[in-house]
Amino acid sequence: MNSLLISDIQQRILSWFDIYGRTWIPWKLRQDGSLPELKESISPYRIWIAEVMLQQTQLKVVIPYWKKWMDKFPLLINLAEADEQDVLYQWQGLGYYSRAKRIYLSSKLLLGRVGNSNSTNWLIWPVEIDDWMALPGIGRTTAGSIISSAFDLPYPILDGNVKRILSRIFALDKPCVHNEKRLWDLSNKLLCHESPRNFNQALMDLGATVCTTKSPNCSLCPIQIYCLAHNKYDPVKFPQKKSKKIIPYQEIGIGIIFNQDGELLIDQRLETSSMGGLWEFPGGKKEPGEYIEDTIKREISEELGIEIKVREKLLSFDHSFTHKKLNFTVHLCEWISGEPQNLACQKFLWIKPNKLFDFPFPAANTKIINALHKHLGIKKQ
Ligand code: SF4
Repeated sequence: MNSLLISDIQQRILSWFDIYGRTWIPWKLRQDGSLPELKESISPYRIWIAEVMLQQTQLKVVIPYWKKWMDKFPLLINLAEADEQDVLYQWQGLGYYSRAKRIYLSSKLLLGRVGNSNSTNWLIWPVEIDDWMALPGIGRTTAGSIISSAFDLPYPILDGNVKRILSRIFALDKPCVHNEKRLWDLSNKLLCHESPRNFNQALMDLGATVCTTKSPNCSLCPIQIYCLAHNKYDPVKFPQKKSKKIIPYQEIGIGIIFNQDGELLIDQRLETSSMGGLWEFPGGKKEPGEYIEDTIKREISEELGIEIKVREKLLSFDHSFTHKKLNFTVHLCEWISGEPQNLACQKFLWIKPNKLFDFPFPAANTKIINALHKHLGIKKQ
């Protein structure tokens, strides 16, 4: 690519961004809601939280969570000194809870570096890519996005939108996963050094609104004349696909166990497990050939060391993760004997059903809680 061509692509993308870009994204603005000037720094704290939320979640879902987060933890110190359960609670519903734990851990590390400062001299925050990548859960694209967004410094990004656009402009003949180095080189070469914050955002916006996965709207695209996929091939064939993996499917039996006082049993997942620290209803994986009622009895005996009677089914539903699909079957149960023990959990509690929303649960459990409240005639708070 020669420099004239690069410069023309940059100008076309930036001019498009001025008119059609998502210039309203709250963490890309000054705290008074106005647009920052070129090369002006804005709050890295607000951008860092948003960028981690965006790692596996769409912008429109992230915005209300981010706003609630900023109300609860407006400054780094508020987050670093919060209780971990409060942090998980604020994250509830966003999924991939390890992100919340890493943010919490990172907040303590950042506080050691930045200190308890209310200053808007944002340059006391890390401005080097390696410093950000040293924090748990921050990869190169998140780090590049934080630095370019907060300080308007020229660091490239490579999220899914950018990969798709680059794969199409240059009609790359390999799946992205086998082409990382080339894609990073292209993102770096195309980056506009005069306006990296807007340029990176423009690429993401173009990918999200025009160069979409299934139906790219090439007639509205500012770089159509340079796009090989549009000019020579079918854009939707890019990026090239890798062969699909079969996603495992697993049936899970869950028990809502009531005692004689009308309380039910919840337990807290081990810190070492996925979604560690969150609360759940006890249960586990169905063995081949096992009836689901027997699964629930066995799992609860192994997890808590108690005997139960499995009563009627409350609900059954599928829940998909990126790497697996689970089918949950939930039964109401009655506690018969034995004192609960922490055999495969870190804590357990007997609580009244109307207190369930006081605890952070994984997203799939919200369906169970809503069904249970409906069954018991409890109105949503
Ligand atoms: S011309 Fe079409 S395929 Fe190429 S970058 Fe633009 S929207 Fe995407």
